[in-house]
Amino acid sequence: MERKMIEVEETGLTFETEVDLDRLKALAAEWLTLIGENPEREGLLRTPERVAKAWAFLTRGYRQDLAEIVNGAVFPAEGSEMVVVKGIEFYSMCEHHLLPFFGQVHIGYIPGRKILGLSKFARIVDMFARRLQVQERLAVQVAEAIQEVLEPQGVGVVVEGVHLCMMMRGVEKQHSRTITSAMLGVFRESQKTREEFLSHLK
Ligand SMILES: [Zn+2]
Repeated sequence: MERKMIEVEETGLTFETEVDLDRLKALAAEWLTLIGENPEREGLLRTPERVAKAWAFLTRGYRQDLAEIVNGAVFPAEGSEMVVVKGIEFYSMCEHHLLPFFGQVHIGYIPGRKILGLSKFARIVDMFARRLQVQERLAVQVAEAIQEVLEPQGVGVVVEGVHLCMMMRGVEKQHSRTITSAMLGVFRESQKTREEFLSHLK
């Protein structure tokens, strides 16, 4: 499929997409009609176009590549102390309702031979968050990606999220957070390591 640059007007951010924006735009217009709206009224005239661009942006993680993201930022490890990166913001869309969930990801790992530039952890989180997701899988995918790139002694990932699909539909109390985690290697095998990691998150 053709790759082209489009500009997301809300943020001014430019990114590449393979999404067929014209078809998505036509679908968004039909969607508006189906929910009882008139896509021809003035306030909605440019909405299908905005929706198509927004969705191309919100799902751009499908079109990103792990190797490309970490490229040039893997360095030799000098020690084997636990590295903890806390409070990485994420914004994702739940795959059950196509509504947002968002929050923070905390990552810990104990290096093997390699370490990763700190800014790359946020890029990895973003790559998996910018897809349709469930929070459990987001934690697992981030952990497995770090495992794959760094082959560390172990990695732990904790995700804290609030889910608009729950809150807006009244399923969940406002402000309640969902916490999921994934532990690999020594983070899975050693309670002491896991506890050290979790104590950093308090
Ligand atoms: Zn949902």
